[in-house]
Amino acid sequence: MQIAGRVNAAVKPICGQNCPTMALFRNATSPNIMLLNDAGQAKIVYSPQFFATAYDRYGDLGILALIAHELGHALDATLGAKWVNEKWTPELRGDAWAGCILAHVDPGVGGYTPSLEALASYPSSAHPDWSQRLPVVRAGFAGCGGDAAKLQKK
Ligand SMILES: [Zn+2]
Repeated sequence: MQIAGRVNAAVKPICGQNCPTMALFRNATSPNIMLLNDAGQAKIVYSPQFFATAYDRYGDLGILALIAHELGHALDATLGAKWVNEKWTPELRGDAWAGCILAHVDPGVGGYTPSLEALASYPSSAHPDWSQRLPVVRAGFAGCGGDAAKLQKK
């Protein structure tokens, strides 16, 4: 999958040799998308129906953001960073790392709107409201060298 390649390229400058290897698995009976963290391997299991729907709505950048959030859980478990707030819940930390990954992605002329909308549209049951999530995504984005002003819906 080409999007996985984009995510891997974006993650490389963040974790270098310590990057978890990412593998994507289709599973028609799985929930939307989830991470199985397995000894340094980030196994991301997704429902093909879910990806098809999300792709129709938000395209590459939407799927990319959803994968970045899941991979973010794996990075959170292995890396740590100064800009991570200990008070953030695991889901918020996944969002922050997604922001960090997005800072290394060139979104093209459309900007990050599809990424933000995809993240906002598919919260996990443990997620707080989007109004609490966006500042955290921004913090990760800025923490990884992104210009937070660019991270907004157009
Ligand atoms: Zn999550």
